[in-house]
Order: sequence, then structure tokens, then C-alpha cells
Amino acid sequence: MKKQDVIIVGSGVGGATVAKEMARKGYRVSIFEWGKDNSPQGGFFANPFRCFGGIKHKSNAYLTTDGTPRIQIVRAITTGGSTLVYGGASWDPPLQLFEKYGVNIKDEIDDIKKEIIIRPLQDHEMGVSGRIIKEAAIKTGLKWKNIDRFFLNPDKFKQSSYLFGDKTGARWDARVWINEAIKNGATLYNEHYCEKLIIKSGCVSGICVTTANGQKKDFFSDIVVLAAGGIGSPVILNNSGVESGSGIFVDPYVVAIGYLDHKINGAEVTRQGGILLEDGIALGDSTLPLLAYVKLTIENKKYEKLLCRNKCISILVEIDDDISGSIDKYGKIKKTLSDKDLEKLDKGKDVALKILEAAGAKDIWFSKIAGVHPGGSCKIGRVVDSNLSTDVKNLYICDASVLPESMAIPPALSIMCLGKRLAGYLSSQYN
Ligand SMILES: Cc1cc2nc3c(=O)[nH]c(=O)nc-3n(C[C@H](O)[C@H](O)[C@H](O)COP(=O)(O)OP(=O)(O)OC[C@H]3O[C@@H](n4cnc5c(N)ncnc54)[C@H](O)[C@@H]3O)c2cc1C
Repeated sequence: MKKQDVIIVGSGVGGATVAKEMARKGYRVSIFEWGKDNSPQGGFFANPFRCFGGIKHKSNAYLTTDGTPRIQIVRAITTGGSTLVYGGASWDPPLQLFEKYGVNIKDEIDDIKKEIIIRPLQDHEMGVSGRIIKEAAIKTGLKWKNIDRFFLNPDKFKQSSYLFGDKTGARWDARVWINEAIKNGATLYNEHYCEKLIIKSGCVSGICVTTANGQKKDFFSDIVVLAAGGIGSPVILNNSGVESGSGIFVDPYVVAIGYLDHKINGAEVTRQGGILLEDGIALGDSTLPLLAYVKLTIENKKYEKLLCRNKCISILVEIDDDISGSIDKYGKIKKTLSDKDLEKLDKGKDVALKILEAAGAKDIWFSKIAGVHPGGSCKIGRVVDSNLSTDVKNLYICDASVLPESMAIPPALSIMCLGKRLAGYLSSQYN
């Protein structure tokens, strides 16, 4: 049977899941990725730098919102998208939230857990800092738990290398599924930036791209799936004359930092343990990589603490913010946090303060607000329907942009489930 061509724009969690599934089912898949194909073997400092796109993409990878407060957001521009720099924490999708929008992904969670090893760190695998914070959190009465993680090969797990530039191969990232799609016949076009969609009479027939050397090219297909991420997908829609949603969530977070009177720190995994409080406030331990620590101390003018990283323990406080503001066709984000968002952050900071104090930390301070999970900009129920289909025929979206609400939890597993569900739907519609 002839199978149709599928173009997928973006190779992060959403794009990789759809690519892997559709290639497995025998469709002719082409993946168009803005960034280069960086392997995760690049070393602790060089790898994140490369995966954020290097100097070339400095202003595309590190964005600051226009609003109050101004929020820094980062995204990776590389094969595998932000999973090449992520913390690898996994959280089961909140099923009731998705059901409210007509989306049932219960089976997909089970299926994905058969494909990727997802499990928490065992107590003996926890780092010193993660353990200190866990004990302190439990002392304050919180039900702190070890958080699930994505593994490719857990036997190779090392606290010092699981994060950026994981040379061991312990951590799973979306590049694994892109490579599987390629083995099943998919083609990956790196450094191909999708400028806009080719749409005629309400039906998409392909995409216009610019290559690394500035050449403009058109590619045609039966189905187009946008998976350029919470910022990338609305930009493409805006440049194609298709309305994207109004607003975005960014899962705003602050880091609470305190100091013990003895040295403890080596590199550790972020969010080894944590808790999601009922009102959409998530907390987790967050050992800061050296560069991130230095950046935060300078940004927050804590110069006297610049050399104290080896005594610091820190907690990430993240909230589920309202979808608000806008993204224009250049990717410029306007967004002001609501009073409700700010109150939640304050509430979370109070809880973090209590935990750090219970751990015996002193000189506690909080970083400026930043964001790391942009999404909701093409949300289900507004830009796409429950099958991730847009009003433009044969055009679908599958990435963080379709998440209908902020969840304040690591979103990768939810996006994978949506990708798997979309592939099932596409194969039922196009065969
Ligand atoms: C530092 C950091 C830590 C994180 N930690 C965790 C964690 O522990 N657990 C978790 O679940 N999540 C985590 N996340 C979030 C998670 O990585 C993202 O939510 C997820 O990767 C989003 O997937 P996506 O498919 O929506 O987009 P992305 O991963 O952003 O991928 C989109 C891809 O599209 C490409 N692209 C964009 N525009 C275009 C265009 N016009 N043409 C072609 N290609 C384009 C980009 O280069 C990118 O590769 C973290 C994110 C960051 C930045």
C-alpha cells in the first residue's frame, strides 16, 4: 500500500515521537530541524553551549520576555530539541486535565513506559545535596518523593554526568527516537529553518525553508506536523497567515539558595526528589551546575557568594502560570505575570525557605524569575482540536505549544503521549 509523505518540523520530544512512530508504520518521513545534529557526547561545558545553538543562535536560544517581570527563557536548537540539555525528570501526565479537553492518553503512558526506562533514582543513587533536601523536606512534614527519570542505560548512571553532556549514555534524549526513525527510512534535514507553510485553498501542501547557506527551498508532502516547540510553532503559524493562540505559559520558577557550614557539592542531577503541591506549585532539589551558579550569583549581585558553591544547597520553585500575553512572528514574547502567579511563587518560596532552614542552611536568597517550559501557545481547544488537527487541512501540531494548560511539572512525557496518540490518529486517517 502506498504510504503518504509526512513532513515534521522540529525534532524535539514532539517531533521525535511522531517521526519514530510514523516511520515505523512505513510512512515516508522527512524531519526539518533548525539546529545542527549535536551528539550528547560533548563534555560538560561544550555540550550545552553547542546544543543551545552556539554563538549563531545566542539570541534565538536565550530569550527575554517583554513584560513585568522580564523573564529569561531558554530553549535548545539542535536535533532532539531541549532534551539535549534537559534535566531528564519525568512526571506522569495529569489525566484529568487532558480528559477535560477530550484527550485520553492513559494507554500511551503505558506504551511509552515499555519503550523507555522511566524510574526514580534509588536511594543509594541519590546525591548528597538531594538527600539533605529530601530529609529536611520530610522533617517539615512534606511528602517529598524521588522523581522519575528518563533512562537509556541506567546501569551507566553517574550523578556527575547525567545532566549536560552526558557521555555515559545513561540518559534518554529525543535524538534516540530521531535516530530510530532514520533507521526506518526517515530523512533528517539539519540546519533547515522552516519559514512558513505552503497553504492553498485551506489545505497545507508543504513548507518553505531556508538552509544554512541562505538558500530558499520548498518541500511538499501530504501531511505536515509542526513540532517546533512552544515558541517555534506559533512563529511559523504567524508567518503563514494562520492564527496562533493568544498567549503562552512559561512555568515560571525561582531558585532558593542557602549555605551549609561545610562543603558538600559535586555535580548532581536536578529534581532528584520533589513534590507537587495542590495549588500548582512544584518544588524539587536543584543542585546548580557551576556555570549556572556563577550566572545566578552575578545576576542577583551576590558577589560575596561567588566562591561558595561547594557549600550551597538549592531548591527549584516552579508554578503553573496562566496562559497570557502574545508571541509575534519574530518570536518576541509579551507576557506579564498575574497577581495569582506571583502569589503562588511567594507561597512556594515560603515552603522552600522552611526546607532550607530545616536543613541548617543560612544566608538564604532567591534568584530572579526565569522560565524553562514555554507552551500552551497553540493550545488544544483553541488552535488544534483534540486530535491535534488545525483548521488548515492536513496540518497538525504536536509539541509543548498544544498543552492546554501549564502543569508546573516536567512536560516531556505528556508531549510524548500526545505524539504517540497523534501517530495513531494519522495512520487511521491516511492509509
Ligand atoms: C534546561 C531545560 C531543562 C529541562 N528539564 C526538563 C526535565 O527535566 N523534564 C522534562 O520533562 N522537561 C524538561 N524540560 C522541558 C523539555 O525539554 C521541553 O518541554 C520539551 O523538549 C519540549 O519539546 P518540544 O517538542 O515541544 O520542543 P523542543 O524540544 O523545543 O524542540 C523543538 C525543535 O524545533 C526546532 N525548531 C524551532 N523552530 C524551527 C523552525 N522554524 N524550523 C525548523 N526547526 C525548528 C528547534 O531547533 C528544536 O530542536 C527542560 C527544558 C530545558 C530548556
